[in-house]
Amino acid sequence: MDVYEQIDIVIAGAGICGLATALALHRKGIRSVVLERSETLRATGAAIFIMANGWRVLDQLGVGSKLRQTALPIEGSRLVLLDEGKQQELPFGNGETRCLKRSDLIEILAESLPHGTVRFGCQIVSVKLDHSTSYPILQLQDGSSIMAKVLIGCDGAKSVVADFLELKPSNLHTICATRGLTTYANGHPFANEFVKMKIGDTFVGRIPITDELVFWFVVQQWTSKDAKVSQDSKLIQQSALESTMSFPIEITEMIKSSDPSTLSLTRMRYRSPWNLLLAKFRKGTVTLAGDAMHVMGPFLGQGGSAGLEDAIALARCLAEKMSPTNPSARERKMMVHEIGEAMDQYVKERRMRVVQLSTQTYLCGLLWETPTTSLLVKFACFVFLAIFFRNPTYHTKYDCGRL
Ligand SMILES: Cc1cc2nc3c(=O)[nH]c(=O)nc-3n(C[C@H](O)[C@H](O)[C@H](O)COP(=O)(O)OP(=O)(O)OC[C@H]3O[C@@H](n4cnc5c(N)ncnc54)[C@H](O)[C@@H]3O)c2cc1C
Repeated sequence: MDVYEQIDIVIAGAGICGLATALALHRKGIRSVVLERSETLRATGAAIFIMANGWRVLDQLGVGSKLRQTALPIEGSRLVLLDEGKQQELPFGNGETRCLKRSDLIEILAESLPHGTVRFGCQIVSVKLDHSTSYPILQLQDGSSIMAKVLIGCDGAKSVVADFLELKPSNLHTICATRGLTTYANGHPFANEFVKMKIGDTFVGRIPITDELVFWFVVQQWTSKDAKVSQDSKLIQQSALESTMSFPIEITEMIKSSDPSTLSLTRMRYRSPWNLLLAKFRKGTVTLAGDAMHVMGPFLGQGGSAGLEDAIALARCLAEKMSPTNPSARERKMMVHEIGEAMDQYVKERRMRVVQLSTQTYLCGLLWETPTTSLLVKFACFVFLAIFFRNPTYHTKYDCGRL
């Protein structure tokens, strides 16, 4: 007979979404275990823009006030078209906007969880269904197995749990982003604004996090050499410097002085809006959240916040079925069909939100991927955006409800 460790709720992946989901469940009095393949918390990507909808979630998770102390509010945004010598104000949501250091966000979420919730060095290699119980069995890299009553895949864009649900693999954009952090020991001279600069097809973004710390990114076409470059922080820095040679000296100086340990080069991925509309996001007691469900390009800066919203919606739906007023839940007997109902409710709540976000993001992405997008397609994108997303920051008003 096979021997498995048995765990009630397993969350795959200790990224932003996995940790937020574990914390949302914990706030509802429900224990979970997060399995993370890395040996430590990962904060790849240096920093993350969080707008009003994300802050509503962080407040409900009880970490908002602590995180506010780590980052300044951002007050506006502008685009500088350097080769045309023009600049324009960009639409900016009305609510709170800050750029958080990813390590601050991840660490504060993790330290709010009960000790031992996250298990490191636990890579899930496959998931199968146990036909006698209908529960998922997780096969780990070290040869051990876990039977979970509930499995939530928060394992990112190349999710093993999404493979189990037979979802199509995520698609690749033709563009990539280099991201990093630069510390100015005597304070930086920049205003509290998100500035995007453009020359040709290369964009540079700059956002202050504190009076001393600045987050920056460079977006450009992905080329065949980038796979090798992305493995080495020195090569990443060198490549970012080469791409920004024609930008103002303050930009090249910022990249030169960046902390190598914060540098990353990532090719962007997305799940298409029509795939999100039609996909089955639940099988038995297994579902997805965060990038595993709806990875999207960063053109709206909403991927992470959408994952935070998932955490609240999923914890609320599961907790409703497990509440003490529900007789079967009083005994904490998690029946397959009840968990399935809770997950279906969660998927129903989230589907149209993520379809809308990913549609707007997808259209913006087609405009960013300038060399590969024909004029006709670009025109169609403008028309769709003008008709369906007249207020481009409307998505920041979304409230995913109480936990
Ligand atoms: C260039 C760029 C800029 C972005 N900017 C923003 C922004 O400003 N604002 C915003 O809201 N979003 C932004 N995003 C999106 C945001 O980064 C993601 O949506 C978010 O990080 C996804 O979090 P996640 O927890 O779902 O997945 P991930 O962060 O990918 O975490 C997945 C975790 O699962 C672990 N894992 C993977 N496979 C396994 C396995 N088999 N077993 C165990 N563990 C596993 C990984 O190690 C990882 O820790 C940006 C994305 C990019 C690419």
